[in-house]
Amino acid sequence: MPKYIIKYDREGCIGAASCTVFSKRFTTAKDGKADLKGAKETDEELFELEVDEKELEELKESAKSCPVKVIKIYDEEGKQV
Ligand code: SF4
Repeated sequence: MPKYIIKYDREGCIGAASCTVFSKRFTTAKDGKADLKGAKETDEELFELEVDEKELEELKESAKSCPVKVIKIYDEEGKQV
């Protein structure tokens, strides 16, 4: 099954919370910003999570809904989807 990488730049999050509506992976943290459940912090406030196709559509909706576009999704070839 193809894998996808979610990249979330938490520093830019403005806490609009629309991402949390579409995917349970996103929750609102105490500071009002979103947390990406299960993700690894690869750099300061930069999170990465590998998911399979099952979660792709809902995470795409989360990414689309984000007003500051801090959620990006890449396929196995590194192409943004
Ligand atoms: S939609 Fe974007 S700005 Fe809003 S909480 Fe989610 S990541 Fe943050």
